[in-house]
Amino acid sequence: MNIQVLGGDREIGGNKILVTHEDTRILLDFGMSFSKSSMYFSEFLQPRKCTSLKDFFEFDLLPDLSGVYREDYLKHMERDPEERSIDALFLSHAHADHSAYIHFLRKDISIYCTEPTKIILQCIEETGKGTFSDLCTYCKAFAFYRNKRGGLSRVDRRKEEYVTEREYNIMESKRKVRVGSLEIEMIPVDHSLPGACGFIVYSNEGNLVYSGDLRFHGLHGEKTHRFVEEAKDIEPDVFLCEGTRIDDDREDSEENVKSEIEDLISRSEGIVFAEHPKKDIDRAKTIYDSAKNNEREFVVDLKLAYLIEKLGKMSPLDIKDLKILIPKKKWGLIDKKVSKDQILKDYEKWERNFIFTDNTIKCKELKNNPKDYVVSTSLWEMNQLIDIQPKNAIWIKSNCEPFSEDMELDEKRKQHWLEHFGIKEYPAHASGHASGPEIKQMIEEINAKKVIPIHTEHPEMF
Ligand SMILES: [Zn+2]
Ligand SMILES: [Zn+2]
Repeated sequence: MNIQVLGGDREIGGNKILVTHEDTRILLDFGMSFSKSSMYFSEFLQPRKCTSLKDFFEFDLLPDLSGVYREDYLKHMERDPEERSIDALFLSHAHADHSAYIHFLRKDISIYCTEPTKIILQCIEETGKGTFSDLCTYCKAFAFYRNKRGGLSRVDRRKEEYVTEREYNIMESKRKVRVGSLEIEMIPVDHSLPGACGFIVYSNEGNLVYSGDLRFHGLHGEKTHRFVEEAKDIEPDVFLCEGTRIDDDREDSEENVKSEIEDLISRSEGIVFAEHPKKDIDRAKTIYDSAKNNEREFVVDLKLAYLIEKLGKMSPLDIKDLKILIPKKKWGLIDKKVSKDQILKDYEKWERNFIFTDNTIKCKELKNNPKDYVVSTSLWEMNQLIDIQPKNAIWIKSNCEPFSEDMELDEKRKQHWLEHFGIKEYPAHASGHASGPEIKQMIEEINAKKVIPIHTEHPEMF
C-alpha cells in the first residue's frame, strides 16, 4: 500500500491523502488549506474561475495530478482529455478543510461519506454563494446553449439539463465497502459537527487507520473511544493521526461550556447573543438547553434553521422548538405593508418556506422583550443590532479564537460594534479537537507500526 499526503502535511487542514494499492487508488478527503490559500488570496483577491485550475496549481493549492479533475475545466485550460485515475473519494466530514475542493473533481469519481455529511454539503451548496461550490451537483462550466431567439447564451445553474448530481454513497457503521483491491470501513467519531468519521482501509498487505478530525470531550465522546477500540483491534500498520492540538494540554469539556453559558444567561439583564460555529449542532443544542433552563427561547437564523430542518431526525434540535429570526433583505420589505408575494421576492428560494411560518420572529420583538431570548448570531449578522438597539446585552463568544490576520481584523471590527452598543463579551468554548495528552494516549492504545502526523503544525511533537 502506498500513501501520499498531498495536503495536510505540516498544516492544519487541507487534507488530501492518496492511497494506492495494486490498481486501486482512493482519496481520503479533498479539502482546502486555509493557511496556504490565505497566503495568496483574500476576500477581494480570489482565484479566477476563467483560468480553471491554473491559479490553484500556481500556489500548490491543488496537486497537479492526471485523471482527477473535471473535464470542463481541463478543456477550458486546453489540456487533453484524461482517463479517470481515482476510484473513489472517502470523506471524513463536511468541514471545508476536508471537503471544499470536491468542486474540482471529475463527476464520475464516487464519493463515500455519512448521511449527515452529505446533507451538510447540500446545505452549503444551496445556501452559499461561492464560485467553486459544486459539492453535491456538477454544473457544466464554460458552455453555451442556443436560446429562444436563436442566439447563444451561457449555461448557468438555471439550465437544469446541464446540472448533474454527483455520485454519493452513504456509508453505515460495520458495513465495509469494497473498492478494487481495498475494503474501507467508516467508524463514527465525535467532532464539532454531525456525521464526522474516521476510516479503516483494509488490504492484503496490511491495514491503515485514518482519524479524520476528532475529540473525546464532546457530547458523544464515546464514539471516539469506540473508534480507538476498533482501530486497536485490527493491529494497523499505519495510523494517519490528526494533531491540531498536539501542543495544547488544556482539557476541554462541552459539559463545562453548558454550565458556563447557563450561568451567563442567568445573570444577564438583557438580551443574550451567542456567537457559535453554525454547523456545530451539538453546540447549538448546548445553547438551546442553557436558554431553556433559564426560561428563554432560542432564536436561530435562516441558514441554521434550514440545516436543522434538512438533518431532520439526525438533528438533536427540533425546528418546532426554536424561533427563526427573519432578517431584512435587499428591500427590507418584511416590515412594510405590502403583499406576501412582494415580501417573498426579497428572499432566496430556499428561505421562502420559513418566512410565514408560526415560529418566525423579527428584530422588533427582540427589542421589545429582550429578556425572553437567546439569539444565535455571527459577525455577519451584527447589523441587526441597529434594529434591536440592545440594552444591558451580553455576547457569548462560543467559537475559536481568530487564527488569521483577516479574522483578527473582523474580530476588531466586532469589538467596535460591541463597544458602540455597550455589550459585554464573555468566552465559553470547547475545541473540536483532542488535546495533546489525549492524542498521545490514543496513539499508544492503537499501537500502529507507523504513525503519520497530519492536520498539525507540529509533526515533530509526535
Ligand atoms: Zn480539519
Ligand atoms: Zn473538522
